[in-house]
Amino acid sequence: MKIRFWGVRGSIPAPGPDTIRYGGNTSCVSVETRTGGLVVIDMGTGLMHLGNHLMTGAFGKGQGRASILLSHTHWDHIQGLGFFPPVFVAGNQFTVWGPGGSPEVLEGILEGQMDPNFSPLQTLKNFSATFDVRAVRCGLPFDAEGLRVTCREHPHGSATALAFRIDDGTRTFVYASDVGQPDAGAPPHPDAIAFYQGADVLLHDTTYRPEDQATRRNRGFSSYEDAADAAIAARVGKLVMFHYDQDYSDADVDELLASCRATLDARGGAAIGLVPAREGEELEI
Ligand SMILES: [Zn+2]
Repeated sequence: MKIRFWGVRGSIPAPGPDTIRYGGNTSCVSVETRTGGLVVIDMGTGLMHLGNHLMTGAFGKGQGRASILLSHTHWDHIQGLGFFPPVFVAGNQFTVWGPGGSPEVLEGILEGQMDPNFSPLQTLKNFSATFDVRAVRCGLPFDAEGLRVTCREHPHGSATALAFRIDDGTRTFVYASDVGQPDAGAPPHPDAIAFYQGADVLLHDTTYRPEDQATRRNRGFSSYEDAADAAIAARVGKLVMFHYDQDYSDADVDELLASCRATLDARGGAAIGLVPAREGEELEI
């Protein structure tokens, strides 16, 4: 699997001179399978850049297809959709897997952001591509472009978000962003650890420093310590840091990286690799 980061920021885009190295776009990650299939995870503003890239290939000719996995429908995970050029090319096919309990509810939520009060697109029906919306049922694995996907719902503030475990038969990638443990200092939930167990790569949100998380607990995000503890407990091969707070500069994220490394080393995770997600970079597993 080739994992590529198109948006790594949390909550709201934060472009500017202080975020140029890690990037200011919100959550969007692509996974290319060994056979050339494409799975997109989350549709934050990074989706626009992925779309522009895809238009240079089959998607520009109306011959592309992809599965999109949607963790939840907060703005920073859906806002790129109206700016994703491949949906305006007839012939392209998308299958969207996400929360909501039923395809109608999920489609209704996505339709809501196209309302004329928010967008000139007015409705999803103005897309030329096929846009097939399906609701996932956690516990029931499904196939996305030849990858086996399972999901788990974790707490995220007053809502929930889905984590995805993606398996290609030889390698496993877990995407777990916007993970909000309700109790300060609580160890990772046993069900979460079981879900992450032994993954080659665990992408986990490291939205905050612990001291910043303490003042914003109700927002439902993890600190780098939460992510490190989960990685150690689940014995993963590599931890990817993700979904940095919008107010953190590149220097802040550098500091987050050093602190996360030190936490892993001090708590028994010295063998775990650590990579900070950076917009435009790729990770092959
Ligand atoms: Zn988010």
